[in-house]
Amino acid sequence: MDFNDTKEEAEFRAEANAFLKSHLKEKTGGRRRESGAEFLARAKAWQKTKAEGGFAQITWPKEVGGRGGTPMQQVIWNQEEGKFDAPTSPFQIGLGMCIPTVVAFGSDEHKKRYVRKALIGEEIWCQLFSEPVAGSDVAGLKTRAVKDGDEWVINGQKVWTTGAQFSDYGILLTRTDTSVPKHKGLTMFIVNMKDPGVEVRPIHQASGGREFNEVYFTDVRIPDSDRLGDVGQGWKVGLVTLMNERLAVGGSPGPDYSEIMELAKELGLMDDAAFREKLADWYVQAQGYKLTKFRTQTALSRGETPGPENSIGKIITANQLQDICNSGIELEDHFGLIMDEDLSPMKAIFQSSFLWAPGLRIAGGTDEILKNIIAERVLGLPQDVRVDKDVPFEQLRVG
Ligand SMILES: Cc1cc2nc3c(=O)[nH]c(=O)nc-3n(C[C@H](O)[C@H](O)[C@H](O)COP(=O)(O)OP(=O)(O)OC[C@H]3O[C@@H](n4cnc5c(N)ncnc54)[C@H](O)[C@@H]3O)c2cc1C
Repeated sequence: MDFNDTKEEAEFRAEANAFLKSHLKEKTGGRRRESGAEFLARAKAWQKTKAEGGFAQITWPKEVGGRGGTPMQQVIWNQEEGKFDAPTSPFQIGLGMCIPTVVAFGSDEHKKRYVRKALIGEEIWCQLFSEPVAGSDVAGLKTRAVKDGDEWVINGQKVWTTGAQFSDYGILLTRTDTSVPKHKGLTMFIVNMKDPGVEVRPIHQASGGREFNEVYFTDVRIPDSDRLGDVGQGWKVGLVTLMNERLAVGGSPGPDYSEIMELAKELGLMDDAAFREKLADWYVQAQGYKLTKFRTQTALSRGETPGPENSIGKIITANQLQDICNSGIELEDHFGLIMDEDLSPMKAIFQSSFLWAPGLRIAGGTDEILKNIIAERVLGLPQDVRVDKDVPFEQLRVG
């Protein structure tokens, strides 16, 4: 394992940092999740600036607006951008998951039409996989696509679709055949989110935000040319999206052990034995995670592809975030009840992240699903029981 930048990596880091300094403010104090029209406009402007500077999607080819750089440069850019107040969240799903799927399975026309516009922040994408009865078991989804001439007619419902309310396009996983086992009857499409048959209903969250939505499809017609991959091959296409998701979701956008230590110092709690024990646990977890990330970075730096062991990152960070926020709120005593940034200690960072942390433990694979992946694919333990694997979908009791 090599923790130091090579000469080239150090030069790139300095260049990235200088670019960021010239456009953004460095992060200070609380790190709250933002949303709303003003935030979206700021995010689009920043995405454009980044693309013009050659820092948007570092590994993508120059022809589509990328930099043609290395995965390690992308890691360095993410680390440096993370130090600044950069509004990136509206693009994470589109650029991190949807467009890589379009590039892998779309036609040349698709790539010409969609990739650049997404990269420069003009168009936003969402991922339409989960349904009320199909989350962890996404292959059990029911949204139907029925062929009618050169078009497909879509009817059904998705849920938890992040960013659907401001998305222009989405990648949509549908069922096209019920007579075969669940994984074999799926097909993926590009869907225009502005189609009149697409209805987006925001879900109000406990945090006050509205980041995800229910999405209803009523007789939406999609041309066959907007199919991604072969009919019945949707699972294979979706796996490419999910593989990218596991790499994209992971960091914890909230307070860590250094911030709760700051609070404890302010409250004179640093001599409290019970608190010190917790602090030591968080520190050990954070260091372990940091070293695991170094291992991933070393693999990238050597041109290797990180494997399923990456699933450990989200299990550690999401659980730690929830635990730290819980403790932070307890330490603040009755001030812990106040969400208002101007009235609560430390700009209410523990309160806002406390409401978000459970979502992070679910999004992109729940704790249990990620533990299954680690058990089966990293440790080589026996597979989870899958009784419905070879049964035609129409014979399953679903929902
Ligand atoms: C913040 C957030 C953003 C999201 N964004 C999107 C998005 O943009 N697009 C999209 O399509 N979806 C999105 N999702 C949905 C997400 O993918 C699902 O919520 C997730 O896959 C879990 O599915 P579920 O909610 O149906 O829970 P379920 O799958 O019903 O799980 C319920 C419980 O059962 C456990 N469980 C399930 N199967 C097993 C098993 N085999 N072994 C052990 N335990 C098991 C789970 O761990 C969980 O505790 C988002 C979710 C969140 C929280």
